[in-house]
Amino acid sequence: MKITICHLYPDLLDLYGDRGNILALAARCSWRGIEGLVQRSSLGDPLDFRHIDILFIGGGSDREQSILVNDLKRRETELREAIEEGLVVLGICGGYQLLGQYYQTGGGDKIPGLGILNLWTVAGRERLIGNVIADLNPAAWGQEPTGEAAVRGTGNSEGRGGGLQTGPGTGCSLGSVAGTDNGAAAKAETGSGAASGSGILTTLVGFENHSGRTYLGEGLLPLGLIRHGYGNNGQDQGEGVRYRNVFGTYLHGPLLPKNPHLADLLLALALRRRGVAVLPAVLDDRLEIRAHQAVVRRFLS
Ligand code: GLN
Repeated sequence: MKITICHLYPDLLDLYGDRGNILALAARCSWRGIEGLVQRSSLGDPLDFRHIDILFIGGGSDREQSILVNDLKRRETELREAIEEGLVVLGICGGYQLLGQYYQTGGGDKIPGLGILNLWTVAGRERLIGNVIADLNPAAWGQEPTGEAAVRGTGNSEGRGGGLQTGPGTGCSLGSVAGTDNGAAAKAETGSGAASGSGILTTLVGFENHSGRTYLGEGLLPLGLIRHGYGNNGQDQGEGVRYRNVFGTYLHGPLLPKNPHLADLLLALALRRRGVAVLPAVLDDRLEIRAHQAVVRRFLS
């Protein structure tokens, strides 16, 4: 079994050690006897999205985002087709923002995004910095997203609208985050059960540092629901996004070593797209699970 992981723009988008996400995915493949093949692609490099299983785009400063955007736009059609066909994508912060319609900098310049996700970002005066804990949004986790927006309406740069509605019928009920259905759903999706933290871990932890406030349009689901920190915009309690097999988040850290359940979900989705139904359980990742739980306790103390 082989999973090909592409690190896009590793020389430009690699803030706060985001390359650690690549290392975590490759390690979690090797612990299972899966060949995790890492390839790097940057400005002008040929890249066929049909031959990769997971695309990773890290975070970067406004300057780096504006440097690479034309190169990224040239890849838009193939990437859009690959996403609709199930390509797994993880975008962190700037890499997340670039999947949307645009990123408006503090100086008012609009850096166009790929427009693949119905979201947009407007920089604010104050940077949103600090530790983050987000409860997993059951509507976006461990099952095909319902597509029913958990964030009703659309937020906007003035911050109006976009309030999270939870409870029955919105596909987003906080109550179930801590319940087993979330874990059971995740377990069903990864097939690796508790061994990979799914079913035990019902939060995402990380570190954020961004000026952009991201607003999700209709049809998009936040990946998490903020318990500590700012998240997408510091207003609607959403953190990140999930659309099909695309995951966007503001969480640096790097994200995946502290969130093994998300790492395994990405691997499971990548294998499923290749017709492999179950991700083999990892023998023992209690260390990663304990690290996640210790971080949650520390952030909340
Ligand atoms: N430049 C973007 C912002 O400040 C993204 C920053 C990042 O990737 N950490 O919002």
